[in-house]
Amino acid sequence: MKYEPVIGLEVHAELASATKMFCGCPVVDTTLTEPNTTVCPVCAGMPGTLPVLNQKAVEYGIRAALALECEVQRVSVFARKNYFYPDIPKGYQISQYELPLATNGRLVVDTPQGESVIRVRRAHLEEDTGKLSHIHEGSEDYSLVDLNRAGVPLLEIVSEPDMHSIEEVRGYATSLRAILKEIGVNSGDMEKGVIRFEANVSIRPVGSTELGTRTEIKNLNSFRAMERGILYELDRQAKLLDSGQSVAQETLGWNEAEQKTYSQRSKEDAHDYRYFPEPDLPPLVVEKEWVEEIRATLPELPRTKSLRLQNQFGLNRVDAFKIAAEREFCDFFEACVKAQRIPNTKSVASWLTGELFAWLNLSGKNFVEIKVTPKGLAELIDLVQEGLINQNTAKAVFVKMLESGASAGEIVKAEGLAQTSDGDAIAKMVSEVISAYPEELASYKSGKETLSNWFFGQVMKAASGKANPTVLKSELEKQLQQHKLNS
Ligand code: ADP
Ligand code: MG
Ligand code: ZN
Repeated sequence: MKYEPVIGLEVHAELASATKMFCGCPVVDTTLTEPNTTVCPVCAGMPGTLPVLNQKAVEYGIRAALALECEVQRVSVFARKNYFYPDIPKGYQISQYELPLATNGRLVVDTPQGESVIRVRRAHLEEDTGKLSHIHEGSEDYSLVDLNRAGVPLLEIVSEPDMHSIEEVRGYATSLRAILKEIGVNSGDMEKGVIRFEANVSIRPVGSTELGTRTEIKNLNSFRAMERGILYELDRQAKLLDSGQSVAQETLGWNEAEQKTYSQRSKEDAHDYRYFPEPDLPPLVVEKEWVEEIRATLPELPRTKSLRLQNQFGLNRVDAFKIAAEREFCDFFEACVKAQRIPNTKSVASWLTGELFAWLNLSGKNFVEIKVTPKGLAELIDLVQEGLINQNTAKAVFVKMLESGASAGEIVKAEGLAQTSDGDAIAKMVSEVISAYPEELASYKSGKETLSNWFFGQVMKAASGKANPTVLKSELEKQLQQHKLNS
């Protein structure tokens, strides 16, 4: 039986405000900060303390909601989500339930198959929990709690179950992360846990419109883990259905070491949380004027940018999408195009998305740390276009530029890499090589035309690879023709 995947994502994004959601404690990088040092009676859940809403966090939430084309609600209501766990000192989390900050958004995502529209069901504000570390040392078995993260503002963004392939999931997740980064509300650092993805997965027979029973996968720490987890789950569910069994609605964890999901608990229902309106906070009223003020400050978003790169610079969809994903890439691209003496936007795009991205992947370096400036890359591409170096030499020069920070011109000069485009010098080499191989010339003349490639190789060898290949080729063809006519 053929099944269609049905996937919805829940995304928790920390909002990059200076202080926590309901108190004045600073928001810190919890991976670099001594545990439990940014905690006060409010975020530690002491009895008798009261929450005070952080306006900046609300502004960032609205900013994200607008970027996702949501309707921002004039009135939203905070609610208590009650559960007992050591990472939640109050015994409840302040969240939003029936009346969220924003609803009905959409994200247009780019996949190799084209564009898909994924609807955003809702985006609501809530506070983050503390962080537990489970320690197993010999016979000892205990957990530690760090409350630095408790009370950090979060925006939970819930999609409709509109994704039907891993490419759509990848497109949605990467676009969402890029948008939040671009608008300055989240750093996008998945490894630090500032943005976290949970996947809801079900399958149904192709052609069916009903939703199947879903499972929810948690602790997905990277895009790769998310994709593997979803694929694993799709396969597991298909096997269950194929063998006449049914899928149990449950919450699963992803085991990275074993590359499989494991059951954490049977899925709780909303009523298990005993949600009720937060009595210590009034309803949140957001005036239209404020929303419009925030909307006016939104930057050009990645999708608009990608379309502009295609229209303005003639880039293909794939390159445009990659360059538009991060502001730094796009700024670099545009500055490089501007600095070129011989304009060639496609070449800049392919150096950026090809050689540079590959080098970043290999070296593990960050784009913002690179030693090559847009002007530096423009110079390198100009050297290729002028025929001073060939493409292969340029690739090697580029790696040296990235490693040393020296300019293309300096490297080419210091290492004697410049190729000659001097027509007379090349003509001389060609005629010398041809006279050195009379037998080969004879067979060429008698019809073995492919020998011209062999001659090309011989001349290039004589020139130590530094002859301009275009000039060489045309000179060689000319002289070979001459010999043919003379015979
Ligand atoms: P909860 O908050 O209990 O996890 P929601 O109804 O809010 O439940 O749904 C959470 C996410 O699960 C949403 O992203 C939604 O699109 C997705 N979802 C709901 N039903 C299904 C399903 N049958 N298959 C896949 N995803 C689903
Ligand atoms: Mg859920
Ligand atoms: Zn605090």
